[in-house]
Amino acid sequence: TQANIGVVGLAVMGSNLARNLASREGNTVAIYNRSPQKTRDLVDEHPEAGFVASESIEDFAASLSKPRTALIMVKAGAGTDAVIDQLVAVFEPGDIIVDGGNALFTDTIRREKAIRETGINFVGAGISGGEEGALLGPSIMPGGSAESWETLGPILRSIAAVAEGEPCVTHVGTDGAGHFVKMIHNGIEYADMQLIAEAYDLIRRGTGKSPAEIAEVFAAWNKGELESYLIEITAEVLRQVDAKTGRPLVDVIVDEAGAKGTGAWTVQTALDLGIPVSGIAEAVFARSLSSKPAQRKAASDLPGPSESWQVTDADAFIEDVRLALYASKIIAYSQGFDEIVAGAEEYDWDIKKGAIAKIWRGGCIIRAQFLNRITEAYDADPRLVALVTAPYFRDAVTKAQAAWRRVVTAAAQAGIPSPAFSSSLAYYDGLRADRLPAALVQGQRDFFGAHTYKRIDGPGAFHTLWSGDRSEIEAVDTH
Ligand code: NDP
Repeated sequence: TQANIGVVGLAVMGSNLARNLASREGNTVAIYNRSPQKTRDLVDEHPEAGFVASESIEDFAASLSKPRTALIMVKAGAGTDAVIDQLVAVFEPGDIIVDGGNALFTDTIRREKAIRETGINFVGAGISGGEEGALLGPSIMPGGSAESWETLGPILRSIAAVAEGEPCVTHVGTDGAGHFVKMIHNGIEYADMQLIAEAYDLIRRGTGKSPAEIAEVFAAWNKGELESYLIEITAEVLRQVDAKTGRPLVDVIVDEAGAKGTGAWTVQTALDLGIPVSGIAEAVFARSLSSKPAQRKAASDLPGPSESWQVTDADAFIEDVRLALYASKIIAYSQGFDEIVAGAEEYDWDIKKGAIAKIWRGGCIIRAQFLNRITEAYDADPRLVALVTAPYFRDAVTKAQAAWRRVVTAAAQAGIPSPAFSSSLAYYDGLRADRLPAALVQGQRDFFGAHTYKRIDGPGAFHTLWSGDRSEIEAVDTH
């Protein structure tokens, strides 16, 4: 039998995607893994899938109908390069290699360029949703050429999550665009999680409610504008009781957050592009701070507020936190989309922002109703320069801003860290400010480095003779 699609790499993600593919009408799925035992186990455990299994890369290539299409799901980095080399050796011009792993988008750009010379198509596809998404329907963000999308589109549409009747997959743009957008998705996910964690912490410390009681707060929030997978699972985690100690599970989990690096990539890339993704950055740094036990121990006796803190009206405070969370979340998404816009410009991708928000509605970790509002905002104004200024979001922050300020103030006074809440508010105030102290920074730069400044009353660049008579001269353009 010839297969129309193959999967290389049969660890948890690859085997689940292979089973997902096999379960869809019209697909016959070829499988291959470096260690043959994984291949044999998958065939034995899932006879219903009708896999065409191979134990050599040559047999795998021969088992595919043309144009051959192979999805790589191996350990990102050297593993991906090794498998690509093997496939390039046995594939022909017109065939398609898809990397569905968590590759850094610049690696994808490099690989696409090198493979294009062989006539083989290379597609970097961001796949979100973890193990369960892979099996039941992920959100898929493919890059690559329009030509490969013609073959790949129907296959990916068949396995993707479905949100409101639409498959959560779209051709994001050429070469590394798909992995770039997947990276931003993960960055936003970090911010969303950190904001929820701060909301929980503030409610717990301000009202004295138990995790189980706070779970009910989140469950109620999940029925309103905050409705999302992350809010839903937060309630589940807070409800969980540890079988061994009888305590809330959240109280026996070590408070050091791990990370696999995609959040850091989002921030590193944003720094290169000059885009202030401060909410995402604070979320990444909050995980780093949590994971520094020696520093935390050394600092644990530093002074904080002397009075213990208890809000007077718990319900009013919880509503304030809800509004602050929603406003900060809007900022995180606004910043993430700013980075998409800047990346698209830098790398020459035609990315449809509204379509991206749509394919995040199902399958992935940040899935939420709220994403429809983003699609609507970009549909109404494709040239929107800051998401937070779109009418719907403008209304939301207008409604929230007083509460947002009360929450950030209370947190600061009570000595409770709220890095994502407070940096989002600072970003908001920075963006809407009439005048920023950046003018003073320009003055300082001109003083010590003759970096020049512009004037508010006309064109040109100017320099003050700081070490001379302090008169102003017009700077000569040396470019
Ligand atoms: P792993 O990342 O643990 O990778 C294991 C697989 O890679 C095995 O099949 C292994 O083969 C293969 N492999 C590793 N090195 C090589 C090599 N040099 N040559 C050939 N094969 C190699 O598997 P996962 O299923 O967890 O993840 C697969 C990909 O999906 C990764 O890129 C990961 O980042 C991404 N991922 C995405 C998630 C998401 O939600 N989108 C969630 C989890 C992962 P062998 O059996 O022979 O060792």
